[in-house]
Amino acid sequence: MENYIVSARKYRPATFESVVGQHALTITLKNAIATGKLAHAYLFCGPRGVGKTTCARIFAKTINCQTPTAEGEACNQCESCLAFNEQRSYNIHELDAASNNSVEDIRSLIEQVRIPPQIGKYKVYIIDEVHMLSQAAFNAFLKTLEEPPQHAIFILATTEKHKILPTILSRCQIYDFNRIGIKDTIEHLQYVATQEHINAEPEALTVIAQKADGGMRDALSIFDQVVSFTGGNITYKSVIENLNVLDYEYYFKLTDLLLENKVPESMLLFNDVLKKGFDGSHFVTGLSSHFRDLLVSKDPSTLQLLEVGAGIRDRYKEQAQKCDQKFLYRAMKLCNDCDLNYRASKNKRLLVELTLIQCAQLTLPDADDVSGGRSLRRY
Ligand SMILES: [Zn+2]
Repeated sequence: MENYIVSARKYRPATFESVVGQHALTITLKNAIATGKLAHAYLFCGPRGVGKTTCARIFAKTINCQTPTAEGEACNQCESCLAFNEQRSYNIHELDAASNNSVEDIRSLIEQVRIPPQIGKYKVYIIDEVHMLSQAAFNAFLKTLEEPPQHAIFILATTEKHKILPTILSRCQIYDFNRIGIKDTIEHLQYVATQEHINAEPEALTVIAQKADGGMRDALSIFDQVVSFTGGNITYKSVIENLNVLDYEYYFKLTDLLLENKVPESMLLFNDVLKKGFDGSHFVTGLSSHFRDLLVSKDPSTLQLLEVGAGIRDRYKEQAQKCDQKFLYRAMKLCNDCDLNYRASKNKRLLVELTLIQCAQLTLPDADDVSGGRSLRRY
């Protein structure tokens, strides 16, 4: 626990193989390198923290490696690889366009581009957040992009592809990075936990993965935060407390109450949630996700869409058996309507309570009229 290094840095992948959740893309990059079909410019697009810069660095290292492996990876042993790994290679230049976006910044980069590499074959220029470059900087850069020297490769990274000029887009090979799936994120967090001799409950890692919403860097930084908070014993309870996440027990309990048509108890449960400091909107979106998870748990073919830890899957399956499909469709629809109307509502608490009252009457024999909307008849 002493000398704890931030996980995102310590576990930054050093090979394409170890990049999490971008399998198809890393294989394509590896093949391009193996067959020597390199472009002069690449555009890496995708949400933050999914591995764009990491892949760009691995790419730069791999194309300069003196003895690449049979699998097309960098050897991590030759002088060039060592220089990369120790961050002293002259063949990689990174410019963060978020803070260096003037035409002068680009000019000084263009100056460097002309100088060929001392060792290795390629100089790689990574321009992060490239959409932040000023118009003048973009124009200055375009000239270099049109006629780059043989040894120069540009990797442009952006979270906002739609802001990139068509003249730039047309000169780049474009790679779209995905959000990293919950399952991949959990597996990687479990790996880090094992390496660090940290005890972590699967449900706790699920919460972290959900909170990170597809970004590995975020997942690891939340993980670090939880490690320091819990002293290395990561339980579900400690994580929801620390991250201010509503316990899924509320949703399981509420669903039981709704199925039993217990209106007063449902309203009291909602009151409890509010008293704990959670807001109604958050509660309702959580409830619709819960119904959605129950729905996909009902059918073996959709069970793969359930992104929760192994330990809690059985509880979803069990509760799903108690809910008929019609109930779940309608309850999801009611929650979704509540969510859509939430911002405009002048009495938000009443809106949520009304939704709960409607949900609690869905399984009554004459339930067809309960939701008051003819639109629901469609289900
Ligand atoms: Zn090497």
